[in-house]
Amino acid sequence: MIIHTSGPTQHNNLVPYPFTGTRAAPTAARPTVIWLTGLSAAGKSTIVDSLNPVLQARGLTTCILDGDSVRTGLCRDLSFSAEDREENVRRVAEVAALMVEAGLTVMVALISPTRAARKLARSIVGSARFVEVFVDVPLAVAEARDPKGLYRRARAGGIAGFTGIDSAYEPPEFPELHIRSDEVEVQRAVRMIDDWLLARG
Ligand code: ADP
Repeated sequence: MIIHTSGPTQHNNLVPYPFTGTRAAPTAARPTVIWLTGLSAAGKSTIVDSLNPVLQARGLTTCILDGDSVRTGLCRDLSFSAEDREENVRRVAEVAALMVEAGLTVMVALISPTRAARKLARSIVGSARFVEVFVDVPLAVAEARDPKGLYRRARAGGIAGFTGIDSAYEPPEFPELHIRSDEVEVQRAVRMIDDWLLARG
């Protein structure tokens, strides 16, 4: 596995060693980052949780990077400011890039609200192995689901800058997959992603 930087750093004393032969051995399936974006409660984590055993049953080694989980560890120093949200996406993309380089199938469930941050993620991972899945749901449906009570708290003024309430969500323009989770059952959404991966080869 090669740890690579994706852009300029503030240091001028870093010279990455030109490692050779560190790529994972080729497997039957192409390692991929499946990046689910959408509003809170759109269904990203639920779909990933059901997709995981399907991919594992096909012999893939998988990993899940979930928004709430990374914010308790890797990104626990970050706030929900615009800059920190972008940094959150960037870090997750860097980790996903390392994992996919090691041969894993990576599922990312992250609101990742801005097109710019998702574009950055795609460039860090590499477009050829990045599958953007828009888990789309009307705000009213997400708010009615509210599995964590976050919309209720945000409406009551308890959470500033909550995506969809007082912070914008920019829908993807050209996602590889567009899933309307208010129209499609979880298992059907899983099939859509798996079929897409199988069709791509
Ligand atoms: P997110 O990860 O996008 O924040 P979650 O997966 O945590 O969303 O929550 C989505 C909620 O919506 C869950 O309570 C889930 O059971 C429910 N839900 C209802 N229908 C669907 C569907 N078709 N796809 C995904 N989730 C759904």
